[in-house]
Amino acid sequence: MDITETLKTLSACYGPSGCETGIREKIAELAAPYADRIYTDVMGNLIAVKSPSAKDDSIAPADFPRLMFAAHMDSVGLMVTYIEESGLLRFGAVGVPDLASLKAAAVRFENGTSGTVGWDADAKEPSADSMFIDIGAKSRKEAEERVRCGDIAVYDAPARALGRDRIAGPYMDNRAGVAAQLLAMELLKAPKYECFFVFTAQEEVGHRGAKPAVFGIDPQYAVVCDTTYSDDIPGSKHVGTAVLGGGAAVKVMDKSVICHPEMVSALKAVAGKKKIPCQTDIIQKGGTDGSDMRKNASGVWTGGVSIATRCIHSPQEVCSISDIEAAGRLMAAFAETKPGF
Ligand SMILES: [Zn+2]
Repeated sequence: MDITETLKTLSACYGPSGCETGIREKIAELAAPYADRIYTDVMGNLIAVKSPSAKDDSIAPADFPRLMFAAHMDSVGLMVTYIEESGLLRFGAVGVPDLASLKAAAVRFENGTSGTVGWDADAKEPSADSMFIDIGAKSRKEAEERVRCGDIAVYDAPARALGRDRIAGPYMDNRAGVAAQLLAMELLKAPKYECFFVFTAQEEVGHRGAKPAVFGIDPQYAVVCDTTYSDDIPGSKHVGTAVLGGGAAVKVMDKSVICHPEMVSALKAVAGKKKIPCQTDIIQKGGTDGSDMRKNASGVWTGGVSIATRCIHSPQEVCSISDIEAAGRLMAAFAETKPGF
């Protein structure tokens, strides 16, 4: 799989929280060659299964423990709440977009309508209620021909290669994780678990897709794959640990989850054995689907494989292709290793 090309394809898809149809259809198409079966649940999570029993009728799926991977496919967005007489659109945030980077950002709606974000003349600091989207309409009536209240705009920028190993784009969070999971599916040849690769919905608004997904799958083991804040920019206070190019970042904790220590050790051991570059992911902020997976039923052995990213939730998130590749390889290698606990 060409990771850069996959990210360009995924970044061109529309998929803010709750409106994931566009991105889901594309992922289903990309995952189909590597999956034994694919289905979508009521929340809109896409679930691709790779089963040890798929090619051997003498094996029952129940003979294997269930391992759930989760990478969220949704993105942050801007939901239209009011259309001014002038045709300018007021909006509320879906998830937590980086408001400081929104000034003059290019955005687009699902129907292709383009817009630009502007700030009110008297705005002192960035806040959603002092910004507007300009779609070029001269009046409310003209704007309503293209956009309605409840429609969601997303950043409108392509993913671009930066040098040989870096890529910038509006939705590395979490199309980078989606690409890593697709790579893991491609690489995984002999699963030791009944593997569920879940591309979750509505993570950016509080992991709302992961919770029903993990309830339905009821796994014994789980691995979340998401971006994480990098700790390698000028002025970093070193309250995090992962850096761009440092390899797959094995999650220890974020603000929503403390991973099971045995999962942390097992992922690092597999990385060491397979010579996959890896580092540690500790962050003090942010949350992931891992929190709902960890707490499901009477508890799940949960770990995480993260991808260090700069400028998270801005229109130009930056990450490293080699880190994404390492994350995909690590997830595949983990699924091919029998659980020792
Ligand atoms: Zn994310």
